[in-house]
Amino acid sequence: MRPIAIIGAGPAGLAAAEVVAASGLPVVVFEQMPSPGRKLLMAGLGGLNITHSEPADTFIARYSENAPALRPMIEAFTPDHLRQWCRDLGEPTFIGSSGRVFPDSFKASPLLRAWLAKLDRLGVELRNRHRWTGWDEAGALTFELGGGERLAFQASATVLALGGATWPRLGSTGAWKTALAERGVALSPFEPSNCGFEVVWSEKMVQDHEGKPLKNTGFHFQKHQARAEAVITKRGLEGGAIYALSAPLRDAIRTEGPQDLRLDLVPDLPLQAVRQRLSKAKPKDSLTNRLRKALGLSAVERALFFEAVGPGFAGDLAQAVKSVPIRVHRPFGLERAISSDGGVAWEAVDSSLQLHAMPGVYAAGEMLDWEAPTGGYLLQACMATGRWVGQAVAEKCSNDA
Ligand SMILES: Cc1cc2nc3c(=O)[nH]c(=O)nc-3n(C[C@H](O)[C@H](O)[C@H](O)COP(=O)(O)OP(=O)(O)OC[C@H]3O[C@@H](n4cnc5c(N)ncnc54)[C@H](O)[C@@H]3O)c2cc1C
Repeated sequence: MRPIAIIGAGPAGLAAAEVVAASGLPVVVFEQMPSPGRKLLMAGLGGLNITHSEPADTFIARYSENAPALRPMIEAFTPDHLRQWCRDLGEPTFIGSSGRVFPDSFKASPLLRAWLAKLDRLGVELRNRHRWTGWDEAGALTFELGGGERLAFQASATVLALGGATWPRLGSTGAWKTALAERGVALSPFEPSNCGFEVVWSEKMVQDHEGKPLKNTGFHFQKHQARAEAVITKRGLEGGAIYALSAPLRDAIRTEGPQDLRLDLVPDLPLQAVRQRLSKAKPKDSLTNRLRKALGLSAVERALFFEAVGPGFAGDLAQAVKSVPIRVHRPFGLERAISSDGGVAWEAVDSSLQLHAMPGVYAAGEMLDWEAPTGGYLLQACMATGRWVGQAVAEKCSNDA
């Protein structure tokens, strides 16, 4: 029988390949880069947060409006399944203090190496440097191999696992949209997710505080709040806390223009306690000294305060330090974001993730239109959708054979 073609050797494509090959069917994985899993390896550089240990319903709710669509796939391949899968590959995991799950090695490379070895044992053929370009008139998949060489490949089923549109140098360029749009597949525009945001800082702020972390700040936007680290960059704010608020912030900016992010510079002190501390400050103390001595604000926290309210602040200080407005103008570009929202629309696929417009062609991973915060939810959903599609393809092709 003709092989099953899987295009894209990221976590979603490799997960699909594993399931299809385990059912005994022939599988060829095509990847445009010189080697597989480049974004996965990049994700492992800062510690590979592969999933999360929180209760199932809380976990699934992280996918917001896409939770109902993703629920069956996550229930079929749960965080516990993923941890067991890691163990089976010889890469056990541990739960960090925040509930996030990491491989013991903290890295992606040993896991990827073990995974590729397993796929090899299952007979999966991996062809790197094959850039998929679409279909020819006979319905064969078309590839460019470099040096002008081309390939037409007839597959019995095709899994597209081409990734989103961030960090294009790692392979996920989003260029695949054109070929799918031409075939009438419904697509949503790409938008950055888990990204930093532009702030117009004063020159002095950049000069004195660029690269400094905010470790003890609460971040609020509308009803959403985040307590994690953020970093002052030349162009704005980045880091876990900002990523956590990025979806509502981005959506509000898109519809209403620039927004105020509210910073609580004393998140562990209730308003009353802040008032009490300030009341003990010496009357002749300058504003800077009151912020420093009474509230213990660091230099970068004080600078943020003055950046927002100006040097001559004369209002309710306690209230002000708990809600410092920082105007954010727009998200940083897609190329810098951890993940992207948008891609193949849910109405374009059936419950097995097969494209309505193209029977026999399936989509998995970040190229589907969903988003989630950081915390392991991205890799969990990529692998769960990959395996789901793999199962559907294996069943269909086994029945057809
Ligand atoms: C810096 C960084 C850190 C991250 N950290 C984490 C983390 O700790 N935890 C977490 O859950 N997630 C993390 N992520 C996100 C996670 O890595 C991605 O969501 C995940 O890799 C997406 O998997 P995927 O298989 O859908 O796509 P990808 O991993 O992007 O793989 C898609 C593959 O398709 C190939 N491809 C694309 N177009 C073509 C074509 N035309 N022909 C052939 N091949 C093609 C690409 O080259 C690529 O190899 C991080 C991302 C980044 C950038």
